Amino acid sequence: MAKLELQELTAITVEDLMIESEKVAHVQLNNPLEHALLVLVKSGYSVIPVLDHTYRLKGMISKTAILNEVLGMERFEMEKLSEIKVSETMLTDVPVLKKSDSFLTALKAVVNQAFLCVLDEEGYFEGILTRRAILKKMNRYLHEQVHYHPTGDKTNV
Ligand code: AMP
Repeated sequence: MAKLELQELTAITVEDLMIESEKVAHVQLNNPLEHALLVLVKSGYSVIPVLDHTYRLKGMISKTAILNEVLGMERFEMEKLSEIKVSETMLTDVPVLKKSDSFLTALKAVVNQAFLCVLDEEGYFEGILTRRAILKKMNRYLHEQVHYHPTGDKTNV
């Protein structure tokens, strides 16, 4: 495989690394929490995006938020799961990225988020970018630097 140069790394955009919307597990605004918990448990993720019926991003829903919502004084009141909607429990203030954002912008963003939603100019959901995808690229780049410059030759760093 050809060596990844620094210029190539910084020229990578969010579009090159994102997971397309069709492959992203999501729920809709007016789904009951019961459905959201089912999707979260079945997918194995702890947080997923919430979209409206036109595919605009509205927020994120997490297992923890759902369990907190139904946590009573002495037990989880699971019967409430079918009565509460995702829109009442989701987190709405979520940072997002654009397809054209640079690798460095994405790197900074994933310091505090395991993944970010990627939206177009009108707020339509296009996919997600995960910390894993960014770390994979960084890992490859740094290992190649060490492999090609094992004595600390900094000509390409
Ligand atoms: P990963 O780095 O693959 O573990 O993904 C980090 C987080 O991104 C996961 O915990 C999920 O919250 C979210 N995520 C990753 N892939 C998907 C997917 N296909 N559908 C929904 N959420 C995802």
